[in-house]
Amino acid sequence: MGKILDKISNGKVLVSDGAWGTFLQKKGLKTGECPEEWNLSHPDKVLDIAKSYIEAGADMIETNSFGGTCFKLEKYGLADKTFELNKAAAEISRKAAGEKFVLGSVGPTGKILMMGDVTEDELYEAFKVQAKGLEAGGADAIMIETMSDLDEARIAIRAAKENTRLEVFCTMTFEKTVIGEFRSMMGVSPADMVQTLVDAGADLLGANCGNGIAGMVGIVKEIRKTDSAIPILVHANAGMPIYRDGETVFPEQPAEMAKLIPEIVAAGANIIGGCCGTTPEHIAKIRQVIDDK
Ligand SMILES: [Zn+2]
Repeated sequence: MGKILDKISNGKVLVSDGAWGTFLQKKGLKTGECPEEWNLSHPDKVLDIAKSYIEAGADMIETNSFGGTCFKLEKYGLADKTFELNKAAAEISRKAAGEKFVLGSVGPTGKILMMGDVTEDELYEAFKVQAKGLEAGGADAIMIETMSDLDEARIAIRAAKENTRLEVFCTMTFEKTVIGEFRSMMGVSPADMVQTLVDAGADLLGANCGNGIAGMVGIVKEIRKTDSAIPILVHANAGMPIYRDGETVFPEQPAEMAKLIPEIVAAGANIIGGCCGTTPEHIAKIRQVIDDK
């Protein structure tokens, strides 16, 4: 068992961090700019984000590497810097984390296997380079997230497991269908995820993004019903984004989000943080609720 899973094995619930993408925009990242490039050009601003979550009480923070596969970076002419940008991402979060943990963020490639955009081998190679860069920079775990395709998730997990010594976590993004079931964009249910990805070698599974914290309760219950042992992580958005006065805002306030934390813990979640629209204030509030329990 690795370091992070060791800590939750005695029933302790850990707190993760909040949003990066929306935070980078607040720090001045422009539309069309490559977020990962900031690891080299604006390391101080990236470090500020990482630090603010540690100061809010997070037990672990992610890295600024969500779009860090060569497939995303090639859009900015940066594919040849894949290893370097991921290593820098992990080094920055490592510096902020101190004794706390660093989760190396890995997002979808944007390529669809089923459509023949890419081969399994090409996907594997892309995730391998990214995972190795994150490990070289000091990450404690690889956090594969926002997945909707089960095959892409499976390949990412295998690439990280086979090429690093790190714990490998994976979350998918589910929405509630009109008949009240949870499905990813590609039609995967939380139960499907568990059945395939535990075998693929995932050390932890869960859900991120989505429509807010309320939906996460049902998702965690479904994961826990399918597998009584797999550690579960939840990174919920601060509600459904709405467009107001020329900008996208996330409506769920920290206190509102924190109210549902006991229910999510009771459903079986082991690590709780936030996704899009969540801030250090949200994380501080979640920390407080967990500590009060
Ligand atoms: Zn999100």
